[in-house]
Amino acid sequence: MINNNFINKYLRQTQDIYGDKLFLKINKVSNDANIVENSLDEFYHSINMCQKCQLGNSRKNFVFGVGDKNADLLLVGEAPGEKEDLEGAPFVGRAGKLLDKILAAISLSRDKGVYICNVLKCRPPDNRDPLPSEIEKCEPYLKEQINLIKPKLIVALGRVAAKTLLNNDLALKDMRSIKHDYYGTPLVATYHPAALLRNQKLKPAAWEDFKWIRNLIN
Ligand code: URA
Repeated sequence: MINNNFINKYLRQTQDIYGDKLFLKINKVSNDANIVENSLDEFYHSINMCQKCQLGNSRKNFVFGVGDKNADLLLVGEAPGEKEDLEGAPFVGRAGKLLDKILAAISLSRDKGVYICNVLKCRPPDNRDPLPSEIEKCEPYLKEQINLIKPKLIVALGRVAAKTLLNNDLALKDMRSIKHDYYGTPLVATYHPAALLRNQKLKPAAWEDFKWIRNLIN
């Protein structure tokens, strides 16, 4: 039986994203993996011209996300930087290279079992922190990505992603090492790879987090 709370929540999220228009999608016979791929692609095409905030004017590319669309592990960063804005893909700069190495160390990669995206889809000028108003406008896109991908585990990379997803204002240290719940999906918070580049001393603790992450998805 379909639960009314579920329908209400779905309609509210849809309204956040599309306004008052309701789109109905009829799939031909298809397997579940294809449905997720098609839906994510359709979703990308429906939002990639977004102008809900001022970042729509300055971006070179809308950075939707990359990876395995049927991933068990969803990594969420903060916002695209300069390189990501130029290339249209998340985590392609120095921090991204480190992230790829960490994933390889736990036998994963961005196209095998992992999907990577950010809270904001457009680059804040001079890499400043995202504004609360930008997060508010962009977060429904992230929520819909999570809805479509249905990962087994969400990992928030850094404080901005963690506090956005967990809807709090805590320090990262107070959110780490806890299995949180994101509307029924387990969520853990760890250091942003850029923080690991800035402070090597954080690396052992980050490595412990990723070993735990590997266990959680196995
Ligand atoms: N930092 C982020 O949070 N996301 C990126 O895509 C790149 C750097």
